[in-house]
Amino acid sequence: MVISILKNPAFRVKARLVLISTVFIICLVLKPVINFSQQTFSPPPISIVKIKGNIYFIKGGSGANCFLIPGKKSNLLVDAKMTADSFRQMLEEIQKISPLPLGMIVLTHSDGDHINGLRGLEGKVKILAHRKTYEEMLPLVEQTPELKEILPTETYEDSRIIDFEGTRLELKNFGPAHTSGDTIIFIAEARVAITGDLMFFGRDPLIHKHKNGTFFGYLKTLQAMLDYKPEIEIFLSGHADPAGRQQVSELISSLKEKEARVRELINQGKTLEEIKEAFGVQAPAAGTPVRRPPLVEIIYQEIMDKK
Ligand SMILES: [Zn+2]
Repeated sequence: MVISILKNPAFRVKARLVLISTVFIICLVLKPVINFSQQTFSPPPISIVKIKGNIYFIKGGSGANCFLIPGKKSNLLVDAKMTADSFRQMLEEIQKISPLPLGMIVLTHSDGDHINGLRGLEGKVKILAHRKTYEEMLPLVEQTPELKEILPTETYEDSRIIDFEGTRLELKNFGPAHTSGDTIIFIAEARVAITGDLMFFGRDPLIHKHKNGTFFGYLKTLQAMLDYKPEIEIFLSGHADPAGRQQVSELISSLKEKEARVRELINQGKTLEEIKEAFGVQAPAAGTPVRRPPLVEIIYQEIMDKK
């Protein structure tokens, strides 16, 4: 009897309808909850602040700070946020400042919080980056072939001058530092440099060993930023507020002090573990997934490699 009801096609249709409407009602009930959780994790709104002349600082959204340089016919963008949504929101906000098409994107390096937003890019745009940044982006494209469109369309080696519709930019790479393909963009006329992830204040700089970044290269690049002629006055970066020469000098001094202290402890015969302990670096809890080495460990390894 029960089986014959279950096999009845009319009953099956009814059961399906009941199931669909139940799922629909559950979705309606949960919608505010789902929206709430999205709101909880939504990134801060995009805001654009003028720094000097035609150089703008783009904060907020998901991912690192980006920079806008409007030209005469199109806009130049430095870096691309972390998500397609944030990238599109940024383009919308840019239109309020400079309603020109996007003409060129310069990538400071290959980290996801600077490039993943390129997934939101529509149409073809010139994308410029250091050759190593291109190479570091290749594994991502190999995993997801449709991302081929986000690869840099042009690369350079040591330096490259761009005359972008009235603004002269010099792209420079001083060797591996944060990654192996960092680009520092010097805008000499404005005395401004856009430095990617070369500046962190109040925390240790990040050096990506897995992308062949190096501590000594990081120091060298910071010094080259200060030595650039004409002298740069404003240093912009992915995760800090605009900084002056004094802050960059202090960052170099604090890193050199750290290096000197590590050397001193090595000369006293201390082991890496003892040195890390002296710097208050805590060992990761058992079972924690593979972590990035702390700065002290990177400095230690590089000093030992040179010995
Ligand atoms: Zn980075």
